[in-house]
Parts: sequence; C-alpha cells; structure tokens
Amino acid sequence: MSDKLKIGFYWCAACGGCEISVLDIDEMILDVVEKADIVFWPCAMDPKYEDVEKMDDGEMDIVFINGSIRSDENREMVKLLRQKAKKVVAYGSCSSIGGLFGLGNLYDNDELMDYGYNTPSTDKDGVMPQEKNQVPEGDLHLPGLTHHVKALDEVVDVDVYLPGCPPLPNQLEEAFPALLSGDVGKYDLISQKSVCDVCPLEREEKKIPKLVPIQEKRLDPEDCILDQGVLCMGPATSGMCDAPCPEVGHPCIGCNGPVRGVKDQGARMASALGSVLGVEGEERMDEEEIKEVIRSVRDPTGSFYRFSLPKSYLRYKRRDLHE
Ligand code: SF4
Ligand code: SF4
Ligand code: SF4
Repeated sequence: MSDKLKIGFYWCAACGGCEISVLDIDEMILDVVEKADIVFWPCAMDPKYEDVEKMDDGEMDIVFINGSIRSDENREMVKLLRQKAKKVVAYGSCSSIGGLFGLGNLYDNDELMDYGYNTPSTDKDGVMPQEKNQVPEGDLHLPGLTHHVKALDEVVDVDVYLPGCPPLPNQLEEAFPALLSGDVGKYDLISQKSVCDVCPLEREEKKIPKLVPIQEKRLDPEDCILDQGVLCMGPATSGMCDAPCPEVGHPCIGCNGPVRGVKDQGARMASALGSVLGVEGEERMDEEEIKEVIRSVRDPTGSFYRFSLPKSYLRYKRRDLHE
C-alpha cells in the first residue's frame, strides 16, 4: 500500500484564482506529488458527490478548501469534506476571512438578485433564477443562496488558515512543505508582520490633509504611497506576500486580511488613518475639517473590508437572518 498522503482540493464560491495558484508553484508541484496523491480535485478531475460519500471518514489526510460559503451546496460539501479529511486547510482569503464576495453582506439577497438580474441584458419579463424549475425532462434544482456570505470556519472547524487572494508562490513554498510534514499550527501561515513591515518603501507617517484617488495623483515611486495621500492598506494587512504591490507602485488593497491576532482589519486601518490624517492627536481639527477628511475616504467599507467583511465585527447587514 502507498505511504503517500491523500490530499484533495475543493472550491466553493470562488473565482478560480486559488485553483490556478496551485499550479503557480511550477516544479515544486513535483515535490508535492512525490509526497501526496491528489485523490479529489473537481477543477482537474471529474469526481462525483457519491465518490466522496463512499470515502471512509478521515480517509483524506488534508483537504484544501477555497472560496466563500455562499450556497446550500457549498455548505453541504464542506461538511462532507470535513468528515472525510483529517485536516482542513482554509485556502485563500475567501475561505479564511470571507473574501471579496463577502461584500455581498452589505445587501440582502433580494437586493443582490435585483441588481444582478433586473438589467437590460438579463431581464426576462421580471423572471428571477429559481431554486426549482420544471422542464419537460423533469425538475431542475439550483443550489439556494445562504442568507449571507461566510468564511469556512463559520460552517466547519478549520485546522490551518492560508489567506491570500490567491496565496502567492512564495507563500506556498513555505506552506506546502510545512503542511505535508504536518508541522504547522492553525495560524502559523498568517504573518504577524504587516505589509508595511516588509515593504521596500519606507513609511514616514507624514501627516496628510486628505486622501486622494490614485488616478488623480502622480506617485513618486520612491516614496510611501500612504505618505503621498493615496490609500494603501499596508498598515492593516498581513505581510506574508512580501509586498509585491507597493513594490511596483500600486497600493496594497488588503488581500491577505489582518495580521495574525487582529480581528478587524477595517478598524485597524481606520485607526492608522486617524493618526496620519490628523483626526486624532494634539492638533485638534474642527468638526467641518473632520467631515471634509472623512469625505475624502471614498467607500470606506469597500476599501477597508474588501476581503474581510464576513470575519469583521460588522459581518453582515441582515442580523435577523441566520442559518
Ligand atoms: S481568494 Fe481570491 S483568488 Fe481565491 S477564490 Fe477568492 S477571489 Fe479567487
Ligand atoms: S507604500 Fe503602503 S505598504 Fe508600503 S510602507 Fe507605505 S503604506 Fe506601507
Ligand atoms: S501587497 Fe497587499 S494587495 Fe498586494 S498581495 Fe500583498 S496583501 Fe495582497
């Protein structure tokens, strides 16, 4: 009998980027397949639900699950996979912290469906997608939406978190060997350093009068982006990516989520901005000045919680709905 590990990959509500990132590790994939057999990977194979059901409990050593929980199907599959795997890895930011799709939690499902389907190109006499449709061949079923977007650990226990949108090759070079050797704790793959801590641009924490959109500013590539008055999420974001975005002159948009041990990425960023924008501290601003500064932070929820809303203190709009 093979002494290789048995591993699986699964996607929930996902863009496909996390799946592709597995192939980004180039020749290191050979080290992975030397140590492990991939026994389940819907992106690359054609396994059926029944194939997973037939597995013994704990038969897979590790299952890597990416994507947010957004449908009944996602929820059912991750519960089944939890049962069939000894270790569950929340792979990518959607799975670890709710991800981009988590911004859907700012609306309820009716508003989202209306926005998505009540458009000139999709409107079909006011008909919305239904969970059950009758066609001549029989009944067709679509998975129903959950009331809000969830991170994986809101549905099943997670053994290891590996955020990133998607996790980058330098993260995977560290993560895969550690995961395959079993030598990794729950939060070990989340850095305690921020993106600022690993950024090649040096932050001087200059006071700035207001934020300006990046398209309205000619950035000096040698200077910290935030010091130049453009929002950069570096101070509030975990830095295991080694800061590739600011390195090429683009602000960090926060895709790794908060640094290890911090619950709310948006609150951390608001606090960081409070000090550089002069809202806090000794130089008191009057109320009008403060309002002016706040107005310059465009779409604060979408910017501060772009990847982490479901795991923040805000979480979702409809607190009356649970499942
Ligand atoms: S974490 Fe990013 S790359 Fe991965 S599925 Fe979500 S949106 Fe796509
Ligand atoms: S550019 Fe961004 S990540 Fe780099 S030091 Fe400035 S705020 Fe931090
Ligand atoms: S610098 Fe920021 S946006 Fe870029 S990969 Fe790192 S965490 Fe993500």
